[in-house]
Amino acid sequence: MVVGNMIHLRNVTRTYSSGSGLVRALDAVSLDIPAGEFVTISGPSGCGKSTLLNLLGGLDRPTSGEILVDGLPLHQADEKALTAYRRHTLGIVFQFFNLLPAMTVRENVELPLLLRGDPHKKAGLRVAEMLDVVGLSRRAHHFPHQLSGGEMQRTAIARALAGGPRLLLADEPTGNLDSANALNVCETLSKIASQKIAVLIIVTHSEPVAAMAPVRIQMLDGKILTHHNDRNPAR
Ligand code: ADP
Repeated sequence: MVVGNMIHLRNVTRTYSSGSGLVRALDAVSLDIPAGEFVTISGPSGCGKSTLLNLLGGLDRPTSGEILVDGLPLHQADEKALTAYRRHTLGIVFQFFNLLPAMTVRENVELPLLLRGDPHKKAGLRVAEMLDVVGLSRRAHHFPHQLSGGEMQRTAIARALAGGPRLLLADEPTGNLDSANALNVCETLSKIASQKIAVLIIVTHSEPVAAMAPVRIQMLDGKILTHHNDRNPAR
């Protein structure tokens, strides 16, 4: 493994059995991503994007191959290690925000911190800091139904960042937004990426969103079709 890589995949294959035989959702994928990198992954429906995200999120295991995140071998980690990984190393942003409707913005962002046992005061300070990062300090006491789609997604981004993840996964984060809201969510994600506090991986169908990142991966049929890196254009 190359020292310094936050994410390391070697020959990762995930097959599913379906009525008509075996589907290779991921087919011997190898990939290395250094700490703090900003990556977008795109490709047609069915090319394996969700399968890859689920593996990186520790929600699924490969059929074969190695997958290490921050040194943790996810392909062989037990449930306890995976739970700790999801609580401390990982943040996830979903297409449909997944906010709790009966909780305010502040409470939504705070909840995962309290669930993992952070003290109230520390959690409160962290939430205030994260709401500032996503530009929602003035909305702290609003409920999700009082927010625009972009504000809901920025709340979800603050929640995903609150635990101090080293890997932030965003699954079609603008897929449910109009263009104005998509733009402000993209600006927020770019700002976070520029701070290099976490590897940011965005899975997207949107070409403008895919183009934002210096590292752009396109997938097809379970494989990496192209891997552009503006920092290393020769690749
Ligand atoms: P994408 O996210 O790019 O749309 P997926 O990772 O969801 O692609 O799917 C990749 C391939 O694996 C597709 O052919 C899909 O039908 C298949 N697949 C995904 N999940 C399952 C499953 N649970 N059972 C059977 N086949 C699956």
